[in-house]
Amino acid sequence: MKPLVAIVGRPNVGKSTLFNRLAGRRLALVEDEPGVTRDRHYADAQWGDRAFTLIDTGGFVPGEKDSLLKQVREQAQLAVEECDVILFVTDGRAGLTSADEAVAGLLRKSGKPVVVAANKLDNASDSMQALSGEFFRMGLGEVMPLSAEHALGVPQLVEAVLDRLPPKQEGEDAEALPDDGTLRVAIIGRPNVGKSTMVNAILKEKRVVASEVPGTTRDPIDSALTYKGHKLILTDTAGIRRKRSIAHRVEQFSVVSALKVMDRSDVAVLLMDATEPAVDQDAKLAGLAEDKGRALVIVVNKWDLIGTDQRRQEAYREALKHSLKFVGYAPIIFTSALTGSKVEKVVDIAVELAEQFRYRAPTPQLNRLLEHMVDSNPAPIVAGKPLRLYYIAQVGTAPPTFALTCNYPERVPDMYKRYITNQLRKTFDLRVPLRLLFRARP
Ligand code: GDP
Ligand code: GDP
Repeated sequence: MKPLVAIVGRPNVGKSTLFNRLAGRRLALVEDEPGVTRDRHYADAQWGDRAFTLIDTGGFVPGEKDSLLKQVREQAQLAVEECDVILFVTDGRAGLTSADEAVAGLLRKSGKPVVVAANKLDNASDSMQALSGEFFRMGLGEVMPLSAEHALGVPQLVEAVLDRLPPKQEGEDAEALPDDGTLRVAIIGRPNVGKSTMVNAILKEKRVVASEVPGTTRDPIDSALTYKGHKLILTDTAGIRRKRSIAHRVEQFSVVSALKVMDRSDVAVLLMDATEPAVDQDAKLAGLAEDKGRALVIVVNKWDLIGTDQRRQEAYREALKHSLKFVGYAPIIFTSALTGSKVEKVVDIAVELAEQFRYRAPTPQLNRLLEHMVDSNPAPIVAGKPLRLYYIAQVGTAPPTFALTCNYPERVPDMYKRYITNQLRKTFDLRVPLRLLFRARP
């Protein structure tokens, strides 16, 4: 797993400005489809030879309902429980407030590595003033002057973070998942949707003895099993909560648990509670799977509480497809982890998706598809000329990644990208995320 670095601090000190700066692009708002925007409060960052996942805890604890103090405490708690290094941002011009002191107290007690930044120090005279005083009294060590907005002090800050990361583990930032015949399945979802019950049901159903798989024994949240001849590792993210506790009562943090295991999973099984309509948090988890390019199974659990009416199921499915449009390719299954109903189907589909995830499309078929697409859908006009697609090739798996050579790689309209993606899905029956790359002719 990549190390996690959390940005904490009270509202308005500049956390999201710093987040965007470190993430290297403006990530906070991304247009996926017309009318759909999703906040992203996490990003993969790469500095030199070290990669880490950055989390803006401010985004995870939206403050409308809670008092400021409660809000910052929860952020800090999340950071302390889940993250490897904490970047504590304060306002160097405003000075310390009681909310800052509360965060500092929590961080001090935790013993976790902390880097303190005094932000909004946009010029040298600011810095002198702020750093000669109260900030040191927090007892968190050195305070780094920063101007997130003007990118001053950023390299020094990152150096300090890198210095405090745990030693690099083998394979922690490997781009590709190991292709060793083992399918890695992560069970994700909000608290209380039934993740642990589901994992137990799967393990019981198959009467498996969790065997020893090299590299998994360290981590008690993983269970290894053999299912219809496939080697599987099931990861129960609820296990992360059980081991720790407090912060996980806050349901926003289920995204952080999922974030921790997603990089090393082929398939995410997203559990939802049938008795509660799909909420923002379910959408965030689905969005995380899409961002990370992982196969996704959507499971509507606790269906026993709804009944057996087929029409209700169809209505639910349609509503869900609408609210989670951006993962429209993901299969939806209705289960009861409690009674065991359709639990086996979850594993069957997960196995099937894991195989699609590593699918390689035959080149002749790809070429035929390209011809078909060019013939049947008039090329869009870009830069005053028709877009021309010359070649297509599959350049990667997990997720399947296709490169298209064309005359205006930078200007392919989103509509056309979606058309190509849909054609690929239909032709090869792929219900996993796909990636398209557009290239110019050499
Ligand atoms: P957050 O609530 O902690 O995420 O804070 P934001 O990143 O949203 O920033 C709050 C305000 O402070 C915004 O108006 C920013 O433009 C401003 N800000 C952030 N960083 C700096 C900085 O380095 N210098 C100055 N002068 N303003 C900043
Ligand atoms: P987790 O927090 O996602 O791991 O959820 P748990 O597995 O701990 O389940 C939370 C509660 O929901 C427990 O009381 C379970 O017995 C109950 N539960 C889980 N799955 C089902 C189900 O399919 N049907 C019903 N009726 N209850 C369920």
